[in-house]
Amino acid sequence: MRRSLAVLLLALAAALPATAGAASTRLAYGTGEIVPIPASIPHEAGDMVDRRIVPNLRWIAKRFPVYVTDGYSGRLPGGGPQVGCRGCHTRGSDHHNGLAVDIVALNGGGRCDRAWRPITRLARWAEPRQNRPRPPFRWVGYDGDSGHGCGHHLHLSWEHAEVREFQLAEWVEVFPVSRQGVAQKPQPRPSTPPSGLKPPEGPPGGAETGPVPSNGPRGGVSAAQSGGISPRGD
Ligand SMILES: [Zn+2]
Repeated sequence: MRRSLAVLLLALAAALPATAGAASTRLAYGTGEIVPIPASIPHEAGDMVDRRIVPNLRWIAKRFPVYVTDGYSGRLPGGGPQVGCRGCHTRGSDHHNGLAVDIVALNGGGRCDRAWRPITRLARWAEPRQNRPRPPFRWVGYDGDSGHGCGHHLHLSWEHAEVREFQLAEWVEVFPVSRQGVAQKPQPRPSTPPSGLKPPEGPPGGAETGPVPSNGPRGGVSAAQSGGISPRGD
């Protein structure tokens, strides 16, 4: 009896995540490209990121008074010029793929003052529990992480396919706000949606016709996560 009950409970537990949560993240398979950060997202002159995270950044900038101090760091793929802060990030950093940003308070001083409160809220949303970032974030650096935190900076990086440094990832995990170049894929794993924070544009399932490869991400998201919770996103 006890065993069959356990089996039943396991079956129920397995069934629940499939129905829980209306919103979800999705994998962006559109062609990656390092592009200038749009003017609507306050940033340091010259900063660039992979274009596939721009819609998420725009969404964040509409809701939080952020100022991006660094995005892509390195020579542009294909032998282009140096972009971003040189030698500022650790080896293996997501900044080296254009899939991370460093953020400070838009009108903050050089210390943890009132201007940082919204940044702290953003950090807590992206990482409700230390080292347990909310999808699609791969690593969040803030209070409790050396060299990060209120008055210093917030690091956000996005989950992505395994990729060498200074190259573009095959796919990037994003939350659904974009209508361009973002392909809806089956939910790769149960994930907590950005609760209480609705996408500003269109319905979550709203429509995408980006190129979708016939085979999914190699090894799936779980494989890409294997090195996930570590300072590698610095
Ligand atoms: Zn960073």
